[in-house]
Amino acid sequence: MTPIEFRRTIHRNPELSFVEHKTAEFIEASLAAEGISCRRVADTGVVAKIEGRGDLTRAVVLRADIDALPIVEATGLEYSSVNEGVMHACGHDVHAAVLFGTLQRLNAERDFEGTVFGVFQPGEECNPGGASKVLAENPFAGYNVVAVIGNHTDSGLEVGQIGVCEGPFMASNDELRLYVRGRGGHGAMRDKIDDTVAAAANIIARLNCLNEDELVLSIGKVQAEGATNIIPDLVYMEGTMRTFDQQLREHIWGEIAAVAADVDSYFGTTTQVDISHGYPSVVNNVELTDIVRGLAAERFEAVELDRRYTAEDFGFYTVQYPSVFYRLGVGSAAGRSHTSTFAPDERAIAVGVDFMSELTLRVKIGL
Ligand SMILES: [Zn+2]
Ligand SMILES: [Zn+2]
Repeated sequence: MTPIEFRRTIHRNPELSFVEHKTAEFIEASLAAEGISCRRVADTGVVAKIEGRGDLTRAVVLRADIDALPIVEATGLEYSSVNEGVMHACGHDVHAAVLFGTLQRLNAERDFEGTVFGVFQPGEECNPGGASKVLAENPFAGYNVVAVIGNHTDSGLEVGQIGVCEGPFMASNDELRLYVRGRGGHGAMRDKIDDTVAAAANIIARLNCLNEDELVLSIGKVQAEGATNIIPDLVYMEGTMRTFDQQLREHIWGEIAAVAADVDSYFGTTTQVDISHGYPSVVNNVELTDIVRGLAAERFEAVELDRRYTAEDFGFYTVQYPSVFYRLGVGSAAGRSHTSTFAPDERAIAVGVDFMSELTLRVKIGL
């Protein structure tokens, strides 16, 4: 099976995060047909393993995500989704095909040091992130993982362009939910109430002041079911917080609680702060990024990218192992991802396979 055929089959049969059952079965069968050993991970994920020569405990991990999105496809492609309301609109079908093609090639040539793992990972699009579930099973126990390598399609880049960013590349994302509670009542009888609305407004204003170069914090929803003359018992707020720095991230968790406590002490309210921890920041290893940059410049075209405030569960790997995540150009004609008409140029798959295969061979760390 060619990587393009592989991609089209996955594209035609998309599945949402953490229910990639048929996708996983198809991947297992495709790997088996190539004589590549594999097993399940994180329920609907698949880990392939290919042994090279030399010290087999030295491992390079290649990762692709495999989940789709709740979108009705409108590309009109002959291999459009047959699962109404589900679509590969983030290019994860392309990522899986690039990984499959890379494993095919590495398996045929077997000309590398150590062991190569290929992780077809479920659930990138939803918390807690399939990456955290994969790593929780410790699938590389006993191995010295010298690199985890991943890529993502990018329609801001043309086919043949590889996007590179050293160090912090993508942000951590945390979901904030705040419940400001107090004695509601008549808006005119201020001595009998705790002004939950004023307290909430103060919290928003003070949280907004936490924004800085390395941090974004936005409250996007405020619910106060009062009236002109009613102060409600509860004001609910939610928002997002993103940063590139784990220390700053943890510091701000404390700051948010401190702001809420301080406002509460003034207004007599009680604020519950729930922070749902999302993905950690994607931080690219400098040495690995250099290899990506060099290879891209030599074989294709390297494009230096700015860091992004979007998040990616690849961050979980970067916390644990030396890792690199780069962007694969799929052409501006592909349109925007996460839309019903997103259609990557399939020529990017051959570029992706060439690039990932060669990159795997060039990772000399640990030798
Ligand atoms: Zn996505
Ligand atoms: Zn994606």
